[in-house]
Amino acid sequence: MAAEPQPKALTRKPLLLNKVEGSQEVVNMAAIVPKEDGVISVSEDRTVRVWLKRDSGQYWPSIYHAMPSPCSCMSFNPETRRLSIGLDNGTISEFILSEDYNKMTLVKSYQAHQSRVIMILFVLEMEWVLSTGQDKHFTWHCSESGQRLGGYRTSAGACGLQFDVETRHVFVGDHSGQVTILKLEQESCSLVTTFKGHTGGVTALCWDPIQRVLFSGSSDHSIIMWDIGGRKGTAIEQQGHNDKVQSLSYAHHTRQLISCGADGGIVVWNMDVERQETPEWLDSDSCQKCDQPFFWNFKQMWDSKKIGLKQHHCRKCGKAVCGKCSSKRSSIPLMGFEFEVRVCDSCHESITDEERAPTATFHDSKHNIVHVHFDATRGWLLTSGTDKVIKLWDMTPVVS
Ligand SMILES: [Zn+2]
Ligand SMILES: [Zn+2]
Repeated sequence: MAAEPQPKALTRKPLLLNKVEGSQEVVNMAAIVPKEDGVISVSEDRTVRVWLKRDSGQYWPSIYHAMPSPCSCMSFNPETRRLSIGLDNGTISEFILSEDYNKMTLVKSYQAHQSRVIMILFVLEMEWVLSTGQDKHFTWHCSESGQRLGGYRTSAGACGLQFDVETRHVFVGDHSGQVTILKLEQESCSLVTTFKGHTGGVTALCWDPIQRVLFSGSSDHSIIMWDIGGRKGTAIEQQGHNDKVQSLSYAHHTRQLISCGADGGIVVWNMDVERQETPEWLDSDSCQKCDQPFFWNFKQMWDSKKIGLKQHHCRKCGKAVCGKCSSKRSSIPLMGFEFEVRVCDSCHESITDEERAPTATFHDSKHNIVHVHFDATRGWLLTSGTDKVIKLWDMTPVVS
């Protein structure tokens, strides 16, 4: 038998450009200002800061603004320089930043939630401010009149919030693991459907409006790609993290998904490959390879006087097999398993080296990531960590 192929050495990796430091508490969200060497950050220490790159090469605050409550989230619209900030007390405050990013002016505030705002999304096309809160509500406001337009109660607080401008569908992914799809009208919303595929809470959502695919990331470490627009109804699992998935970004021009984990892992997935759905796990009283009974099949055990075995499942064919018939491990990248998983012996022989070639690259940000922002215009990635540091990465060596 041929030797196991060794993973190719990774010579191409994200380049650390800068570290932005100075927050007293963790930076809950931050954004790269496109076309400027600037970063906007909101922190648990109640501050809103705009950092500009100085001649020294370092980022220094040009704006330092204290809010009445910890800042939990933000949404920045570069075209209008509108900055919406969500607070721990449930308020959303809207500011306009000056052209030189040296001043911010309060426009209005909404009492949007009963408790901490979790996510904000400003939709310029509709003049809508969408938000989710710890009060288990999704709400939306008109950013012109400041009026509340409607709301919907979700099964738990929601960290995932995405909007499809063309069809006015909103995707809300919550801590119970459920994704809710709502259709928004000017002053009402209707439930389209809900779906659930994760065993843990949804921690991130990413909508690709071109291919009409939704990616969901979870505290169960997995990512699921939901083919919503293709009408095939497929759900493909992607396993590439060892900790909860914290963020998902999609690079349209290169068709790559960037996922970041709480352990600091940055995974860049090639989404140009055709992936397969993982099989349903089959149920059987005995190993589907050698027919040995599993330990709960007392009758057959009694009849054949054999000791029962533990049931395992081959990740490739889904068959219930015993440990002896599934002693080998393999990665199956085309099924989303970038790490080695249990496969039955016959599947292990059938997997070719080509099928084992990784479809993702793995990188280490060297801090525990709480938030990420991807600036597609320059291919820059911002990671904010539990170490209170913001790191700026040039992703073009791997996202190209
Ligand atoms: Zn198998
Ligand atoms: Zn067996």
